[in-house]
Amino acid sequence: MSDAEHSCAEHCGIFTIGGPLPIQGAYRDICYQPVRDNIWTASEGIYRTVFLEGNKGCIAFDTFGTPGTARAYQQAIGRVFPHKPVHTVVYSHEHLDHCGYAADLAPEANIIAHDYANRVILARGSDGQLAAHDTFADERTSYDIDGCYFELIYPGHTHGDGNIAAYFPQSKTVFMVDTVADGVGYTTLMDWHLAHYVPVMKRFLSLDWDLWVPGHFWPVTRQRYIEILGYWERMFDFGQQAVIDGVDPHDWEGLNRYTDEKLRPLYGSEFRFEEYAAMNLSRYMQEYLSGGWGIEGNLVPDTSPL
Ligand SMILES: [Zn+2]
Repeated sequence: MSDAEHSCAEHCGIFTIGGPLPIQGAYRDICYQPVRDNIWTASEGIYRTVFLEGNKGCIAFDTFGTPGTARAYQQAIGRVFPHKPVHTVVYSHEHLDHCGYAADLAPEANIIAHDYANRVILARGSDGQLAAHDTFADERTSYDIDGCYFELIYPGHTHGDGNIAAYFPQSKTVFMVDTVADGVGYTTLMDWHLAHYVPVMKRFLSLDWDLWVPGHFWPVTRQRYIEILGYWERMFDFGQQAVIDGVDPHDWEGLNRYTDEKLRPLYGSEFRFEEYAAMNLSRYMQEYLSGGWGIEGNLVPDTSPL
């Protein structure tokens, strides 16, 4: 569909229904704060990302998930650094809710992504999601752009395609989206490669860092990172045991009864337990019932130190 044929005024993502889609243009307040050194973080309350102050301009990671939020992100960066335009965008992965709207954030910026993510982006052709100009296919690569040094690391298959971490060794900080975040949320999506997720994420413990900035909620310490990963690791046993105990992964009430009994005593105080515990259990059960998702999910993960 050409731009002229679009009936909505905003970039539409992959929506195909007509109409103005006002939700796409809705403004969201963006909070921002310094992290360490030249690293800043921005959030609208649920989603989180980072941006870097360079000598002449800024490097923005991700775009947020609507045109209106992408513009608010751009304005937030502009408020902190009014004379330093966003000249570079780095995509954490290919999902539209984090990286769908570079056309609204910084249409002239140079975009960096992992090759796996960019292949999805090119195939998808989502309205508002710009393809990368600069891709890498290695496990680890470094950039020195406008005075900002960072490494991009593809540790293996975790969630979506081409999901990378940004490592700032001088600041002992890592930013990575849709993997470890505080609480027990989100590992419910089908393209989470569960069998790889925990062993792959453990690889980050071979690096020197003490602050983990996730793509949701708030930054966590290294110790908290280890605890959260421990929860996801234990879920493998709970998922198997629920199948053995005859729980139906499609029976919402049954799943909630089971998590109330088995998981609440251990994890009931975790952030968003009420919302996600039963969904997590269902997703882990599906892994054992179906055998996992796709080619990526069934290859043997690399667990060597990074
Ligand atoms: Zn995602």
